[in-house]
Amino acid sequence: MVGASMDDLAAALQRIYPELEVVQRAAQEPVYVVGGAVRDLLLGRARADLDLVVVGDPAALAERLGGAAVEHARFRTAKLELDGHEVDVATARTETYPHPGALPVVEPAATIEEDLGRRDFTVNAMAVPLEGPRLIDPHGGREDLERALLRVLHERSFVDDPTRAIRAARYAARFRFALEPHTERLLRQTDLTTVSADRRRAELERLAAEGTAREGFELLAEWRVIDLRPDGLKLLEAVDELLRSPHWAELVPRERALVAAALGPPGAEEVLASVWKPRPGEGVEMAERRDPVELILARAMGADWLDRYLTSWCKVELEIDGDDLIAAGVAQGPAIGRGLQAARLQKLEGEISGRDDELAAALAAALQD
Ligand code: ATP
Repeated sequence: MVGASMDDLAAALQRIYPELEVVQRAAQEPVYVVGGAVRDLLLGRARADLDLVVVGDPAALAERLGGAAVEHARFRTAKLELDGHEVDVATARTETYPHPGALPVVEPAATIEEDLGRRDFTVNAMAVPLEGPRLIDPHGGREDLERALLRVLHERSFVDDPTRAIRAARYAARFRFALEPHTERLLRQTDLTTVSADRRRAELERLAAEGTAREGFELLAEWRVIDLRPDGLKLLEAVDELLRSPHWAELVPRERALVAAALGPPGAEEVLASVWKPRPGEGVEMAERRDPVELILARAMGADWLDRYLTSWCKVELEIDGDDLIAAGVAQGPAIGRGLQAARLQKLEGEISGRDDELAAALAAALQD
């Protein structure tokens, strides 16, 4: 599609996003499709998240569309649902950065071209107006798409917002794009520490969410933007493989686990991984106190017993509960939990079985000082 005529592109846009027709009818000001949807349209890819920009008030447009808009006052954006799809509408804006890595100061922009000038890469800085088939491409994004290149719009791009380096890795890995040489020189000077840890983590997790996460982290390390932990990529692959099993997938958030595998400092998971054959009660005591991400990392480092923990030990439950202990005379409070936990561990060890045993074991532990 990169070389397609404008009429073909307009037809593809209508076919992929039929809801645009309603927007166009409701709009009183110029509305543009921007960002990833335009890029992916030119690449001939399937539906992307739809981002619209209006030179005007997004809330008013959302209201005319009768959609329940969730607004973000600071950035003047609205989210609406059209035909079951979420659509983001933002006002055209410029952004300036008071210092490296700061949140931008936002001002309304008078034209779509100004808005495109605040964006990360040329391939993401194109727009198509709803009113007519035309590609607004002031920075040569289409040509860069043809050449499979990521290029920033200006010298200070990675200084203003270093998370763009992580975005570059995400796109380079996903689309197999290269960095344009000058962009690569600028990117290699990126200092991620000027951005808040939260924003850094959020962008790293978006990278981790991709099917090509491994390649993305590898690129970031090669560009010297991040330091991988020793064997970080191998660990990431091992964790990703474990996450194919529903037991792990249900327990562990993938993005967080992959970021921790690639970048995390050595921690509790290394200690857990050094334990070879715990008894069931011991294993449960160790594992239940841990963050699931630490567990999957420990498993990827070789703690095979965690499979048994996940598939059977953690499912062992008592037949009795707190009410049984209260009925037997134990006062409400921490003694109840202590008693139940002691009985559960003994059951896991095979030392007791059945209701009576459980109650006796729980009472003994609950009544202990
Ligand atoms: P995808 O969702 O496929 O990763 P996208 O382009 O939709 O790609 P978003 O993160 O949703 O990515 O951002 C939408 C658009 O907003 C981008 O295409 C880009 O133009 C702009 N953008 C997002 N984040 C930044 C940033 N940190 N700096 C500059 N522009 C950005």
